[in-house]
Amino acid sequence: MSRYLLAKSSVHQWLSKLLARYTVYVPTERDGQTHWHLLDPRDLEETPDRVAPAQRRIRASEPVKSFMFQPRQRVAGFPEPLPLPESAPRLLLGVKNCDLAALRVHDKILGEGEFKDPFYVSLRESTKLVVADCPAPEQSCFCNLLGLTPFAKEGGDAALSVIDGDWIFEVGQTGQELVDTAPELFTRLAGETTETKKRDEERSAAVAALNMTNARPWNPDLPGAIAAKLADDSFWRKHAKTCVECYGCLMGCPTCYCFLLYDQAKEKGLDRTRVWDACYEAAYARVGGGANPRAEFIRRFANRFDCKWNQFKRDHGVYSCTGCGRCFKACMGKIDIRTVLGEL
Ligand code: SF4
Ligand code: SF4
Ligand code: SF4
Repeated sequence: MSRYLLAKSSVHQWLSKLLARYTVYVPTERDGQTHWHLLDPRDLEETPDRVAPAQRRIRASEPVKSFMFQPRQRVAGFPEPLPLPESAPRLLLGVKNCDLAALRVHDKILGEGEFKDPFYVSLRESTKLVVADCPAPEQSCFCNLLGLTPFAKEGGDAALSVIDGDWIFEVGQTGQELVDTAPELFTRLAGETTETKKRDEERSAAVAALNMTNARPWNPDLPGAIAAKLADDSFWRKHAKTCVECYGCLMGCPTCYCFLLYDQAKEKGLDRTRVWDACYEAAYARVGGGANPRAEFIRRFANRFDCKWNQFKRDHGVYSCTGCGRCFKACMGKIDIRTVLGEL
């Protein structure tokens, strides 16, 4: 692992160099929210103050999965087979640690095991990830309850901390090529420096803030507690009573990976398309012949908790939740899963 400093006066020069090699996405601030933005050379000339400050904000509203597991993707054709995808190099500059953890969930489902989704794998492998610290977690953040930190300890191609406008990088083997696009702009850091000391202080403060916001620990056997509560309709009804079934919590969730396939006839043959699905949808579990094991909404509501915090943990060793808080922020019914899980 190597450490580098990129002075704030050199940031835009480096971004210009990156644009020659990658399609670059950066977080930017719009109307008080963070959103992913396709970086254009004109951004660096016309709105130079837009790019750097957003690195210190929390995760973008859009989940990172949408870059690899696209909301709508043509996956097959007949009679002409769809060619295997080829993806151009991309860089997501400013992913958060909760997003990185969410991609690990998708890797387990779509990128590993007996069947690998070639569309996901191609986009995943062609995308470099720079993970930026969150020095100021918001009230909606609870990555700490899932055992995560608001900065990357491992994974990703490089870790970024923005300290007084300067960019500090920790770069592994796979991230070195990002520095090598313009090595003359980077200063190699050795040992502890004023910048790394300040970074470590900011990181400790962010962890303390998260622990303060989310002071109430969960049941240490969350999977067991959910399994024991699964048939208790009164518990789920109490927590679901403000739900309007908009599916915002599912569409925005960076770990949800359910999808459905549909076919569209062409003049000759057909196209098969994959779109994101929602397990709260009434027809989600319906099978041929019309039987539906989760016809009542309350069963679908409970099933989401069972899936993410019981079954996924049992089958894959991790929760299918990263504490990003998008579901709470999106929810018109103001349902906070921390409250639900905190009562188990
Ligand atoms: S949940 Fe944690 S890692 Fe994610 S944006 Fe908030 S503070 Fe950052
Ligand atoms: S369930 Fe909510 S907090 Fe957990 S990963 Fe999904 S959107 Fe984020
Ligand atoms: S976002 Fe809230 S209201 Fe909408 S489906 Fe999810 S829990 Fe229900």
